[in-house]
Amino acid sequence: MARMGRTPKTAGPDWGALLGWYRANRREMPWRGAADPYAVWVSETMLQQTRVETVRGYFDRFLARFPTVEALAAADLADVLKLWEGLGYYSRARHLHEAARLVAARGRLPATSAEWAELPGVGPYTAAAIASICSGEPAPVVDGNVVRVAMRLRAAPGDGRDARTRAEIAAWLRPAIEASGAPGDFNQAAMELGETLCAPKAPRCLLCPLRPACRAAAEGDPSAYPARRAAAPLPERRFAAFVARRGGGVLLVRRPEEGLLGGLWELPMAPVARRPGPAGARRALAAAGLRAEALREAGEVEHVFSHFRQRLYVWLAEDGAPAEPGRPGAPAFVRPDDVAVATATRRALALAVGASGPSGRRKRPR
Ligand code: SF4
Repeated sequence: MARMGRTPKTAGPDWGALLGWYRANRREMPWRGAADPYAVWVSETMLQQTRVETVRGYFDRFLARFPTVEALAAADLADVLKLWEGLGYYSRARHLHEAARLVAARGRLPATSAEWAELPGVGPYTAAAIASICSGEPAPVVDGNVVRVAMRLRAAPGDGRDARTRAEIAAWLRPAIEASGAPGDFNQAAMELGETLCAPKAPRCLLCPLRPACRAAAEGDPSAYPARRAAAPLPERRFAAFVARRGGGVLLVRRPEEGLLGGLWELPMAPVARRPGPAGARRALAAAGLRAEALREAGEVEHVFSHFRQRLYVWLAEDGAPAEPGRPGAPAFVRPDDVAVATATRRALALAVGASGPSGRRKRPR
């Protein structure tokens, strides 16, 4: 980000035009307008890595169930995870819950971005967003949307994920935020411009309030910024997963509270090198700590995480049960609607219903 590209000369950005555009066009969102720091904190946590349209419903349900930080602090983590089910990145929910307990014990919410950043799960971007929106602190928010806008405005070479690039963008934006007199609106305007008009592909420059100052638009190919490194293919992790039903329950196992999908429930499974045949599935069944009268193949489910691809080879385990029912951590029959279930497991259960019918009745394999 240190050098500028060879581009036609343009004047500096008209930040007033950006604010005017935002105030005339901002999208209605349930967390906007109230300036309740707790609600803004919840919304900014949900918005990490997640689009606004996805967050809306989750936010409404979460605030209806936990309207205050004290209510969240008093909740069981299992209930918090249940409301988060399907939103992904579950460490956000665990950290939010942990941080709510710290705040409730302290008796007050943080007031500055530095104080917010001391809480578990609150990084510099989230801290700046909350403090600028709720306290008017001129702290620049430098999320992926803002990085894209800033690099296009200046036709800046380099990788937008680089920490030095982001620090340089923050330093570039700070005087404009201070001069704006409305740090919260400024940050939200920059983020909203990046999410709506200055999209990664096919930005809608003709509608953009910053177009007169935009070097990338003047060059004619704004999508070329920020430069993208070719992503390495994700490694694939393969598992044989088993669906065993009894009454309204399904045999599920709860993952450890720390780490990937911490605290969520998933099907019993065991790693396999490739798609297993009947003999391989039998071996995997034993490795997953189960026994069953018969196994029947139901299909495959793929789920993509940020750093790997998970492939489940799903088998119906008829009269399946834990091999050692009393063992701590052994799978148990639970109703999937009563607990927070991992997305891949939720999809595998749908596949199993399709393979055997909703009542568990056998369907002829195709
Ligand atoms: S003119 Fe186009 S590329 Fe430049 S900031 Fe606006 S939308 Fe983005």
